[in-house]
Amino acid sequence: TRLVALVGRPNVGKSSLFNRIIRERKSLVHDEPGVTRDRIFGRAEHNGEAFYLCDTGGFEPTSKDNIKIQLVEQAEMAIEEAETVIFVVDGREGLHPVDSDLIRRLRKSEKNFVVCVNKCDLPKDDIFIEEFRKLGVPNVYPVSAEHNRGVSDLLDAATEIFASAPKAKQEDPENPPVKLAIIGRPNVGKSSILNRLVGEARSIVDNRPGTTRDSVDVSLKYHGREIKVIDTAGIRRKSRMVDKLEKFSAFRSVSCLEDCDVAVLVINAEDGATDGDARVAGYAFELRKPILIVVNKWDLVKDKTSKTVKDFTEKLHLDLRYIRYAPIVFVSALENLRVSRLIPMCLDLFDQGSKRNSTSQVNNTLKEILLKHTPPMVKNKSKRIKFLYATQVGALPPRFVIFCSHPKDLHFSYKRFVENEFREAFNYKDIPISIIFRERT
Ligand code: GDP
Repeated sequence: TRLVALVGRPNVGKSSLFNRIIRERKSLVHDEPGVTRDRIFGRAEHNGEAFYLCDTGGFEPTSKDNIKIQLVEQAEMAIEEAETVIFVVDGREGLHPVDSDLIRRLRKSEKNFVVCVNKCDLPKDDIFIEEFRKLGVPNVYPVSAEHNRGVSDLLDAATEIFASAPKAKQEDPENPPVKLAIIGRPNVGKSSILNRLVGEARSIVDNRPGTTRDSVDVSLKYHGREIKVIDTAGIRRKSRMVDKLEKFSAFRSVSCLEDCDVAVLVINAEDGATDGDARVAGYAFELRKPILIVVNKWDLVKDKTSKTVKDFTEKLHLDLRYIRYAPIVFVSALENLRVSRLIPMCLDLFDQGSKRNSTSQVNNTLKEILLKHTPPMVKNKSKRIKFLYATQVGALPPRFVIFCSHPKDLHFSYKRFVENEFREAFNYKDIPISIIFRERT
């Protein structure tokens, strides 16, 4: 996924710009409200190019004394991980010493970047533009995030690079590879696991450059099926910055999530799931991605009883409640314990998600569900919500539409009941599905 990062001092208007771009240019995956409230990432589209926007300032509450350090960290991470950086400055304050320092850094990195001079509500506010241009930056744009001025021009410049990037290799449409992403915090053992998988499959490591950044995919063959582990460069590249700033590892994980068919979330058995893992789990759920939770370094757990496994599982279900559907496997990359289960388990998740059911099957199931549990009443009326019919509209993830009267009156618990019944009836036992209740009378 293409990543555009917003970098800038606190209060220059990064989150206003973020919201402006996401709200008006969003490309929705599901028409349901999201679960992740403190948004740091959002999908957007501009000139037909989809990308992820990241508000790097959202990573931590601002503390006054180390703004400089924070900003340098944001910028370095953005330089390392993003395709384009939008550097946001305050058009009312003019050039701040920290800004010129950061702009110099960005220029030296040769990363594609544009400068957004925000809070220029009207043309008469563009007084500091020249000052920024004097730093030798050609792409300086007066913008008002609040009044939506100049945002399109800014995005034209920021996303221009996408058009020139090489397109992804065409895949065999008959037999597309299953795309896996191995995600998780630094040092949980992602690259050790990858090495085990590669060693086992004795596969070809192909260093074909990816679409945009220096992502590299590794191809594996498993019983004749092609599997692609995406963004291997990201796993293998030991980044000083991202390692130091653990919170930023979510950045890479989220950008990989969308590109994959199945995500492998690696967790260190010694630490359990962290807030960053929970955030990633929230995004995985929003995207309805099948996900396998891998608890690595199981060799370090002394007391390997079934009670330990049970307690660990319960704790994970609590900490990562959005992805309760995800199967869990306890492994040790070091001792090569159960690592060989990963690929078959991922393929199973993929196959579950690829399954399509005929409209008559779906409707028969719906009928049975309605018999089991009478639909709720229409609000303030003495009649019940009427269900007309249902159909599967897609796979990977499985998506269904159920047409009914008064969908707004359907309580969450009834929707969840229907969802659980569907998952059971169609054997989507370890993956999420999406059901949309649409009004039809
Ligand atoms: P990554 O940053 O997630 O790719 O993590 P690495 O694969 O580089 O592993 C981080 C450290 O954990 C290394 O020192 C590994 O040797 C160690 N490690 C990885 N897997 C295991 C495991 O299963 N058990 C133990 N004890 N150590 C492991």
